Amino acid sequence: MSGRGLHESVLDLEGSGCLDWYKGGCEGPTEPRESLSGTGTLIPRCDSHWDAALDRDEALRFRYPHNAPADFDPSYAGESWDGE
Ligand SMILES: [Zn+2]
Repeated sequence: MSGRGLHESVLDLEGSGCLDWYKGGCEGPTEPRESLSGTGTLIPRCDSHWDAALDRDEALRFRYPHNAPADFDPSYAGESWDGE
């Protein structure tokens, strides 16, 4: 036991300090980046994983806008808007 407080361990991530270090492939400096969810939360990510997060966010926004289009038909193609 190191005796560290739990709240401290959250900021003391393993590996490079990148939030996604466990996925492997960390590259570049790890810096706090503003969360893409719009909450303003700073999340430590390396350059590589930050780029990946941006790409993922853009893909999600393109495919799943926050509101269903007015002409969205849940029966179309058997898809459901509520599916997560
Ligand atoms: Zn990383």
